[in-house]
Amino acid sequence: MLSVIIPAYNEEKMIPKTAEVIAGLLEAEKIDYEILFINDGSRDHTWEKICEAGAANPKVKGFCFARNFGKEAAMFAGLEKAEGDCAVIIDCDLQHPPEKILEMYHLWEEGYDVIEGVKEDRGKESLLHRAFANLFYGIISRLTKLDMANASDFKLMDRKVIDVLKQMPERNVFFRALSSWVGFRSTKVSFRVQEREAGESKWSTRSLIKYAISNITSFSAAPMQIVTILGTLFFILAVILGIQSLVYKFTGRALEGFTTVIIIELLVGSISMVSMGIIGYYIAKMYEELKGRPRYIFATEINTRDAEQGTKR
Ligand code: UDP
Ligand code: MG
Repeated sequence: MLSVIIPAYNEEKMIPKTAEVIAGLLEAEKIDYEILFINDGSRDHTWEKICEAGAANPKVKGFCFARNFGKEAAMFAGLEKAEGDCAVIIDCDLQHPPEKILEMYHLWEEGYDVIEGVKEDRGKESLLHRAFANLFYGIISRLTKLDMANASDFKLMDRKVIDVLKQMPERNVFFRALSSWVGFRSTKVSFRVQEREAGESKWSTRSLIKYAISNITSFSAAPMQIVTILGTLFFILAVILGIQSLVYKFTGRALEGFTTVIIIELLVGSISMVSMGIIGYYIAKMYEELKGRPRYIFATEINTRDAEQGTKR
């Protein structure tokens, strides 16, 4: 059985169509399936739409978060609840072409464990956004030594990969990289990003920058190493300047350089502050992990075993 995991946040306009298109596609191919909608604390009628889709098709299961926990948490919840032999994660807005699920499924049947969807082009995006994405994936690919260029969350995974991912203890996950990091037999399927049919993207430039910083730091301690290198460079500079000053003093030349002193003061001061900020960021992340709060909280679910037994209502 194939589990289709769909995180949904304010997608009321897309739910009926997405459910119908995906169910129709899999039924035509006679693939046994379940569709898991994870309502990530939407503020519109997404949950009502999921319930309607669930009433029309018992294979549509719905999970409702108690508030917005973010897409990564929603994907994780889907993996935890999926019962299939493999699972595919797809966006609710049909920007990931659903037909590709079949291609991925057939590759899975051939024995691949992870089938990654790779963006052929980045769809309609501003130049700035594109440049930023390229920079981010360049950094992340170098740091993780994984080929992350044009990566997406659209991917199909075998049960054994899902079980490994489920055991990952960290709360702050960068799903795209984590699913490649675990290894296994993997391959890629390229797809064209479609235009969003309804609703709007949940990403602002600010949230993208936050996402980038959070993901880089969750995979690497390189920012702290960069600070160490900077500190070393400044130490060398200080030694050279010190020797120069001493030479000047003993050769009887007047000491000058008030401006130099101020500039160096400011530089050193700002670098120490930035370093403390970086270290603080890592400590804050450790604190987050240490608290061990759940990644998400379910409020209700439909068409699942728990829901039928009335344990969760
Ligand atoms: N999403 C989510 N929680 C969030 C933000 C987004 O579950 O906090 C879902 C959203 O409903 C969609 C997918 O993640 O199914 C991708 O979101 P979006 O289309 O906004 O991202 P983009 O395609 O612009 O990168
Ligand atoms: Mg989208």
